[in-house]
Amino acid sequence: MPARALHDLLQRLDNAARAAGRPVPRLLAVGKTQPAEAILALADAGQRAFGENYVQETAAKRRVLDALPIGAALEWHLIGHLQSNKAREAATLFDWVQSVDRASLVAALAKHRSPDLPPLNVLIQANIDDEASKSGCRPDEVAALADAVAAQPRLRLRGLMVIPAPAPDPARRRDAFIRARALFDALRAAHPGVDTLSMGMSDDLELATTEGSTMVRVGTALFGARRRPPASD
Ligand SMILES: *Cc1c(COP(=O)(O)O)cnc(C)c1O
Repeated sequence: MPARALHDLLQRLDNAARAAGRPVPRLLAVGKTQPAEAILALADAGQRAFGENYVQETAAKRRVLDALPIGAALEWHLIGHLQSNKAREAATLFDWVQSVDRASLVAALAKHRSPDLPPLNVLIQANIDDEASKSGCRPDEVAALADAVAAQPRLRLRGLMVIPAPAPDPARRRDAFIRARALFDALRAAHPGVDTLSMGMSDDLELATTEGSTMVRVGTALFGARRRPPASD
């Protein structure tokens, strides 16, 4: 089952990229609310990069998976909002933090990233069109935040993450993706190391791929429906 779902998803990505003449985005498997066994099944099918929303939930899964031989091959991305009092733990628990949206978080993550680990990969989360969302910086704040990340030797600036407002209208969503891609291109012009635009989820990964996503974050299309309301930290 997990191997089948993974194969189908990779096929969808491949088709969308081919039709648009775009590179195939990386797949981030989003495992929130799914048990460690579900992650393991997908890892056994070949998936390596996993996204999580909560620090405590991730710590519990890593305790299980790090004890297995495959554990060392897995890559962990934080995609949920990060509270400042969790920055210390997040700085060593994750390989990537995609939800960096304020200067205080940049400083805290840099301070707590262990010298024994490679630099923490960072995406700036930009609030591309969802005025109501409390996560993500304004688009006009991205450049300064990116400079702050790039100035930290314990952090590695990799790009941008966006979560457009849920819009039933595909034209509106496409417009948000196009603006995100323009913001990404501007960021990349200023910081040549930037290579990642994280956008697109189960429902809109084709549209996101067409508009230039380099990483899609997919939960339900891989794991099925979420088991329960997500745990909070
Ligand atoms: C849960 C989540 C996803 C995955 O959503 P699906 O619709 O299940 O694919 C992607 N990105 C973020 C930030 C999420 O919280």
